[in-house]
Amino acid sequence: MEKKTDEKLKIQPDAKKTVLCPKCNTEINSRTPRGAFVKTFLFWLPIKRYMCYKCSRKTYVWG
Ligand SMILES: [Zn+2]
Repeated sequence: MEKKTDEKLKIQPDAKKTVLCPKCNTEINSRTPRGAFVKTFLFWLPIKRYMCYKCSRKTYVWG
């Protein structure tokens, strides 16, 4: 098991809307259409869906 040493990178000083992939920590820029469920039931929520181009993980972000 590997120990993570870059924990200090967690907090970013006033970075404006930088979305990081929770899996590989890559900066995500590509928006992706929200899923049908979110579109139908959670359309009123200020969330956006992003997809990581590296690991293809989709994540929802507030704002
Ligand atoms: Zn990723």
